Amino acid sequence: MLKGIWKDPVWSKVIATGILAVIASFGTYIFGVWPEIGSAFSQAWSFTIASTSTPNWLLALMAIPCILLIFSVLVEIKGKISASEPTKTWKSYTRDNFLGLLWSWRYTGNKIYNLHSLCPQCEYQILPKDVSAFSAVPRYDYSCEDCGYSAGSFEGYPEDLLQKVQLKIQKGLRTGQWESRQQA
Ligand SMILES: [Zn+2]
Repeated sequence: MLKGIWKDPVWSKVIATGILAVIASFGTYIFGVWPEIGSAFSQAWSFTIASTSTPNWLLALMAIPCILLIFSVLVEIKGKISASEPTKTWKSYTRDNFLGLLWSWRYTGNKIYNLHSLCPQCEYQILPKDVSAFSAVPRYDYSCEDCGYSAGSFEGYPEDLLQKVQLKIQKGLRTGQWESRQQA
């Protein structure tokens, strides 16, 4: 029966007109009372910002859940931060200063590898230069090609120096000194 009325062109026109009339009158009513709505809003606002005679103990009581909430949020944030920070192990000890040079290396398993010397001033890689021509024994010079820093020359082949430094690193790992050396 209702469907029939809705489908009937005349009835649907009547209903549409009725709806429009209702909307129009409602709109007129809204605009008519607009100043009243405005004053209601301003009253609500002044109520919000006004200080009330609420007892302090009640305010304190209401603040407790807020404080607990803030506290739990802070605890969660702190937990997330410390979880993202990797725990320090000896494997994070991958650089140190020896013999006036900065040494950098990595580990494969428990072995030191890719040990190489860097300039302690600018971290440019220092490649040893053969200066044996001036001496009877093999001698290599460690100078930075980039900033001119010089660690001087060392007697023996570069492999000898690498081994010496490697032994120093291993000593640091064995004695646990790496922890304080790492911060230095
Ligand atoms: Zn340099």
